[in-house]
Amino acid sequence: MKRAVVMGGSYAGLFAARVLSDHAEDVVVVEPDAIGPDGLGRRTPQRHQLHALLSMGHAQLERWFPGVTDDLVKGGALLGEGEDVRFYLDGRLKAPVAGARMLGATRPFLENHLRRRVEGLANVRFVRARATGLVLRNGRVTGVTTAAPEGADGSGGGPGDAAGETIDADFAVDAMGRNSPLEDWLVRHGWDRAPVDGMRIDLGYATALFHRGDELGGTVVAHSSPGPASGYLPTVTEPGALTAVEGDRWSVVLAGYADHRPGPDPEEFLRRMRRCVEPLRTVADASTMIGGVRTYRFVESRRRTYSRLDRFPGGLVVVGDALASVNPVYGQGLTLSALAANALGAHLRSTPSPHLPARNYFRLVEAVVEGAWQLSTAADLAQPHVTGPYPRGHRARKWVADRLTEASVLDSAVNARYMGVVNMELPPKALTDVRFLARAARVLISG
Ligand SMILES: Cc1cc2nc3c(=O)[nH]c(=O)nc-3n(C[C@H](O)[C@H](O)[C@H](O)COP(=O)(O)OP(=O)(O)OC[C@H]3O[C@@H](n4cnc5c(N)ncnc54)[C@H](O)[C@@H]3O)c2cc1C
Repeated sequence: MKRAVVMGGSYAGLFAARVLSDHAEDVVVVEPDAIGPDGLGRRTPQRHQLHALLSMGHAQLERWFPGVTDDLVKGGALLGEGEDVRFYLDGRLKAPVAGARMLGATRPFLENHLRRRVEGLANVRFVRARATGLVLRNGRVTGVTTAAPEGADGSGGGPGDAAGETIDADFAVDAMGRNSPLEDWLVRHGWDRAPVDGMRIDLGYATALFHRGDELGGTVVAHSSPGPASGYLPTVTEPGALTAVEGDRWSVVLAGYADHRPGPDPEEFLRRMRRCVEPLRTVADASTMIGGVRTYRFVESRRRTYSRLDRFPGGLVVVGDALASVNPVYGQGLTLSALAANALGAHLRSTPSPHLPARNYFRLVEAVVEGAWQLSTAADLAQPHVTGPYPRGHRARKWVADRLTEASVLDSAVNARYMGVVNMELPPKALTDVRFLARAARVLISG
């Protein structure tokens, strides 16, 4: 194709641009936010929060940006393996998983590296503008309209910003995140909205940075969550996590639901860290907080299913949070963005007609989203304050999931498969294999 336009230049948009650079003569990324040296755009406040990358997300990162892990580590990121990566459930350290690796870096640091890589591609250019609509002709996308990005006060952007331009396109990607206006645009053109699934979870997040010395030895990640023994409530320990990140710092996050959402008060943050597992307690006592505490409220998980629409414009796809945005506690968002890029690559390699809707893409990507959705919503339904919707067979499934979770604390082999699913390397049905269930049962019987 001649030109593809990616609307949104954050994580999902960068992956989409990378894939499209193999298939289009010219790729234009339309992004209104100036990404400062701290990598923080105004429209993505979640970038301030701790971001962990699942193993599958890390593998995809290397697939599309080979050597990026080495670059990140050279710049100060950390790569944790074996005992450097510690997962706790109800305060108990889980059985180690051989070969597990996790990257410790802040989201802006990771994203800035990717942005520089994408900017370096010969046929990709960034336009600082806001996408304002699609040009549709004969049922397919032929262009994207843009306007100057508003300033912080809602006024027009500064000099040098692209304004009011229509960019011709054979293909357009919606990577505008959770609050994407795409659906409104489509309705204006006489198309239908995609069916939406939602689950209200009322999650609160709070992240703070700390100076990092050698208080935790080689620990790169420590993650603690409540499990079946505490009824998934923060009675034994507070849920939270830390990662060692670039600049000799710790990034520490605390999470809580409904009335237990963490607030912005640094003293309260420290008090709460002292009710967490040992690594977070140690950092609270031994390290100094840098700056303040940033909070974020996440009310609802949401996904759109475009494959269920009878009609959809040709030459248009949706990636990242615009497609599905799930409870961040399970760290699936960045990985879903990368897997959408894989689906896009597979779709484009099948040389689709731009006149037809990208049904093949939506089928592939929605299968991946389905796995993530099943996993995150099943875990969310264990929270007493979450009231559905419940899938058929929920009680029986929850009973089995609780037992598997217990067994994963005790046994490395059970935990390896369990974490394979959590890390999106295996589909949820991998947990229903009969031999695996038998092993988990033996582990629980022998205690
Ligand atoms: C509190 C919190 C913690 C999280 N932690 C994790 C984690 O640990 N691990 C993980 O994998 N995921 C995590 N996530 C999820 C992750 O942040 C998202 O999945 C990810 O940001 C999705 O990327 P995206 O590019 O789709 O959307 P976004 O990052 O939201 O970016 C959307 C982009 O679109 C641009 N845009 C908006 N409107 C327009 C327009 N009109 N025209 C052009 N561009 C536009 C914006 O400026 C922005 O750059 C977390 C999310 C939250 C809320």
